[in-house]
Amino acid sequence: MANNRFSREPGTGKPVTVSFEFFPPKNEEMEERLQETVKRLAPLGPRFVSVTYGAGGTTRERSLSAVRRIISEASLPVAAHLTCVDATREEVDGVVDEFASQGVKHFVALRGDPADGVGARFTPHPGGYVNGADLVAGIRARGDFQVSVSAYPEKHPESPDFATDIEMLKRKVDNGATRAITQFFFDNDLYERYVERVRRAGIYVPIVPGVLPIHSFRQVANFAGRAGSHVPQWLADRFEGLDDDPQTHQLVAAAVAAEQVLDLMDRGVDDFHFYTMNKPDLAFAVCHLIGIRGNNANASEPKAA
Ligand code: FAD
Repeated sequence: MANNRFSREPGTGKPVTVSFEFFPPKNEEMEERLQETVKRLAPLGPRFVSVTYGAGGTTRERSLSAVRRIISEASLPVAAHLTCVDATREEVDGVVDEFASQGVKHFVALRGDPADGVGARFTPHPGGYVNGADLVAGIRARGDFQVSVSAYPEKHPESPDFATDIEMLKRKVDNGATRAITQFFFDNDLYERYVERVRRAGIYVPIVPGVLPIHSFRQVANFAGRAGSHVPQWLADRFEGLDDDPQTHQLVAAAVAAEQVLDLMDRGVDDFHFYTMNKPDLAFAVCHLIGIRGNNANASEPKAA
């Protein structure tokens, strides 16, 4: 591990690339916040930004509208998330075509959570795609798209064991996925062990760590369990007593996220996906610390038309 962990100079070593994830806004105020977030992060030259997707007509429309706006106003390469939930194959194919007509060339293909919420049993829609692997094949059949998929360093909560979980990742890659983005995690050893398992299973696509900067520890602690992500006690200790002290909470959160990313870099990771929660500051600060500055030349996906 490097002695001075904040000593990296921009331009030394292998260039680090980043991507940012947003969710579609639910109202005008959130819409404004998303646009401000995109404006702040765009000059960092992300490899791509992604927009999550929810089941149901209005949610779907919100994703389409957010993607449309980012492409036209920020001119960034956008990866559109897509799920199998509550839709026939024809309906999902129609959404693929619609995204493609907006200039999308990259999809994040997911099974999605059951319509009854996380924890309920997932039942595929009759005539729908049955899981992430099936959806990858469906998207690839509709055009020459880049397809990313999910990966779970602590295994998906529905997976009985790592072997089953990694077998599903293998099916997604065999069907044409070229990158996996992980669920967020806080223990880098778990990520490293998972990548070793994945490589042993003969899967060689990049396993990009999904980094969740902690805007509210209380909220993260609440939903981490459902996402299958363990919150270590040392992390809880760092945020102890800060619920009503937003300024210190923010400073600690930046330090924690920076520490995680720098440690992963020490382990050889050079590509990161940030779950921004539509808030730019923590992701921006971490990028700054690792030498990613305005008008970064690292963006490597072709700009959307
Ligand atoms: P899959 O990869 O299809 O399956 C997940 C696991 O379940 C597998 O690893 C496997 O172990 C088990 N499993 C599934 N089917 C079978 C089977 N037939 N037999 C045996 N085991 C099986 N959700 C959204 O709603 N919208 C989003 O935009 C979104 N974006 C996400 C982005 C990322 C990077 C990640 C990590 C998650 C995202 N999610 C999103 C959450 C995701 O939808 C849930 O985690 C969901 O429960 C699983 O979807 P998946 O694509 O990972 O499923």
